[in-house]
Amino acid sequence: METGAGEVKAIGRLERLGRGLSGLGRLLLDQLYPPACIACQSPLTGGDCLCPTCFSGLKQISVPLCPVLGIPFETDLGSEARSAEALADPPPFERARAAVRYGEVAGTLVSRLKYGDRPELARFCARLMAAAGRDFWAADPVLAPVPLHASRLRFRRYNQSALLAQELARQTGLDVDPQLVRRHKKTRQQVGLSGDGRLRNVQGAFSVHPLFMERVQGRPIVLVDDVYTTGATVKAVTRVLRRAGAAEVNVLTFARVVIGEDSPI
Ligand SMILES: [Zn+2]
Repeated sequence: METGAGEVKAIGRLERLGRGLSGLGRLLLDQLYPPACIACQSPLTGGDCLCPTCFSGLKQISVPLCPVLGIPFETDLGSEARSAEALADPPPFERARAAVRYGEVAGTLVSRLKYGDRPELARFCARLMAAAGRDFWAADPVLAPVPLHASRLRFRRYNQSALLAQELARQTGLDVDPQLVRRHKKTRQQVGLSGDGRLRNVQGAFSVHPLFMERVQGRPIVLVDDVYTTGATVKAVTRVLRRAGAAEVNVLTFARVVIGEDSPI
């Protein structure tokens, strides 16, 4: 499922070149390199990024689910039934929702979003996220992406969470504030760390903008990230938002790891 970094870079360059061309040039490039499904590389005719087979392999999360953590349930236990995880370790945020379960296709989308320079992937993911977060929108929240440390941003050039938040804002008409939360401590990548290790890794890593209260003006906040794994990162960000005076924090991610399903990269 992993695409090699070199290959991704090459594809990125090609796509930038494609965007720089117009009309005939684009047509020519499409002839030479027809748009392909990002998961299985089969040729595509429409403007989407997945073929119908891979799209159906994307496991969208729908009710019944835990009202707190958004974990899908096998059977409907009533709208108040909470997951064992939410009861054992109540999160500092109000509710978390995700568009899809983390799996092979979702993992490919996320890794291409991180490294692949494909803005249409953010559009695609945000469309599913806008539906998954529908319960949040009526309260007119401010969207805040989970930030990357400046040095990692320089290396990678993209904060995939900011791309998702900006695209969500465009699709829902809500405000996005990419500077609301800052990451001032360079943390290790969470991948490969245990639950406790992840918590320790992000402790003290975030702060909020000094003019926080002015910028949010009592509105709820929806934190936007690509994948919810143990929730350590979004919990740490929620705690600093709450300390700064946030009344309500909800979390929206594109994918969510569901125990017993495929684990992340
Ligand atoms: Zn495919």
